[in-house]
Amino acid sequence: MKKDTKKKLHALDPRFRKRFTELMSMMDESISLLYEAATHDEKTGLYNNKFFENMLEMEMEKAKRGKQKLSLVIIDIDFFKKINDTYGHMKADELLAQLAKVLMEQVRKSDIAARFGGEEFIILLPETNLEKAKRFTTRLRNAIKADNMLSKHGVEVSGGITEFKKSDTAKRLKERVDKALYQAKKQGRNRFETK
Ligand code: GH3
Ligand code: MG
Ligand code: MG
Repeated sequence: MKKDTKKKLHALDPRFRKRFTELMSMMDESISLLYEAATHDEKTGLYNNKFFENMLEMEMEKAKRGKQKLSLVIIDIDFFKKINDTYGHMKADELLAQLAKVLMEQVRKSDIAARFGGEEFIILLPETNLEKAKRFTTRLRNAIKADNMLSKHGVEVSGGITEFKKSDTAKRLKERVDKALYQAKKQGRNRFETK
């Protein structure tokens, strides 16, 4: 709260002051909820696509100007249609949320992990070169394997990894990581490929 606002508030009748403070805190809460809804995916709690796109532009600008590397990882659940058919849509939704939870446990605060589409996730890794991004995907794959709920239901993922080049547009960068994912699928799934 601004100093000036605090002063004015102090001059108010204590009852009004109390009510005013309550209203301010309710507004704060509503703004937080609105922000959460506008930037996050409801089903998984990860960032949504729109937020990811905005952050991608920002991080690309930073990486263009500075020396820090930037990497991008895409993940797609293998045969998720079959998982839906076998366990039902509700269980499949729970598995999506569980995978998001495992993913969140493996990323840093500064990383942007978002739900990209139905059963696809995208992770922007600032200050991360290709080698470090690869190590991240190895850690993630191990964490998925070690998760009881995911392994019990046969959840495996394929993914693509790429590092940002200064000449990249967002479109080019995304196309490249998508190609890496396509290659991982083609080569038998349950793996990550690099482009
Ligand atoms: P692939 O290994 O080639 O990726 O096979 P796939 O079956 O995962 O891929 P495909 O693109 O054929 O199907 C994706 C499936 O993911 C189909 C759809 O029913 C399911 N799916 C997408 N979004 C959701 C969701 O929010 N909840 C549930 N339960 N299923 C979803
Ligand atoms: Mg898919
Ligand atoms: Mg899939």
